[in-house]
Amino acid sequence: MRIVAVEAWPVELELEEPYTIAYETVERVTNVFVRLVTDKGPVAYGCAAPDLEVTGETAETVLEGIAEHGEPILRGADPFRRERIHERLRPGLRPQPAAMAALDMALYDLLGKHCGLPLWQLLGGFRSRIKTSITLGILPEAETVERARQRVAQGFSCLKIKGGLDVEADAARLLHVREAVGPGVELRFDANQGYSVEDALRFVKLTRGVKLELLEQPTPKGQPALMGSVTRRAAIPIMADESLMGLRDAFRLARRGLADMVNVKLMKVGGITEALQIESVARSAGLEVMVGCMDESALAIAAGLHFALARKNVAYADLDGHVGLIGDPAANAVTLSRGVLRPSSLPGLGWNPPAAAS
Ligand code: MG
Repeated sequence: MRIVAVEAWPVELELEEPYTIAYETVERVTNVFVRLVTDKGPVAYGCAAPDLEVTGETAETVLEGIAEHGEPILRGADPFRRERIHERLRPGLRPQPAAMAALDMALYDLLGKHCGLPLWQLLGGFRSRIKTSITLGILPEAETVERARQRVAQGFSCLKIKGGLDVEADAARLLHVREAVGPGVELRFDANQGYSVEDALRFVKLTRGVKLELLEQPTPKGQPALMGSVTRRAAIPIMADESLMGLRDAFRLARRGLADMVNVKLMKVGGITEALQIESVARSAGLEVMVGCMDESALAIAAGLHFALARKNVAYADLDGHVGLIGDPAANAVTLSRGVLRPSSLPGLGWNPPAAAS
């Protein structure tokens, strides 16, 4: 089999409700969809969710990167020599992890479609569904509590609350959310680099009664030793997110004991291939893995989901980036019901556009 065409196009997605985190407010995003056409029939899809702040990319640079560095390597290539393709794509796309992720997931989609199996089964098939958290952005306390109640009423049993701007206000919001939702709901907190070491430790102390499941990226990513200091002294698990951008970071975090858990997002690390390698490093070091996401189409969410379902150590999911996106062409790539995410039963990533007869 040979790849005969590589196509990429932008898809604008509006958020039903804009949200705020420690460093920005988001109202709309542009994803880039990718399509690989082969000479033997199967057509495969991928999706990039560039984010200037996190991946250093825009939709324009993703489109350029795919045209300049992806297409010349993929066109005419045997899609089942993924490792060889990966090694050839990496140098040109190293600064473009979301573009790399889109191509990488499309190659996996093709493999699944060729084999007639959903990707999660091909990659290991450890579990068939996973609970996901749903994120609450930074809002005033009363609104946070109200949103938390709504999400729990919708069936979510795990909430991820954003903060990082004000320790006392963050702690107060969490205490009130806990009172409102009761002890049965898991609560995670993401400071998005907003705290100092002292802030983080004070936050952990103030929220002791909340029984938080984890604290994500308390301190700035550029100063890894700070997170290490929080990890050694805090009584709850500390998760690295922005500090983990690839395989080398995973090794560095593991070797220096800088975190207890890692948040692997396909858009940060460049796709499923690298995510699987990171998972192995994490597992060897006893670090638990959560699969996370950007604001991304359900097609990209499906790729993260298949990765999580395949491996035992990816026991946590924060795959809610597709919730509330208006105009997602791949909305049916996954099913989210009462806080539990399931893949489609179709081969590969489980999605084809309605018009495609592949
Ligand atoms: Mg995070």
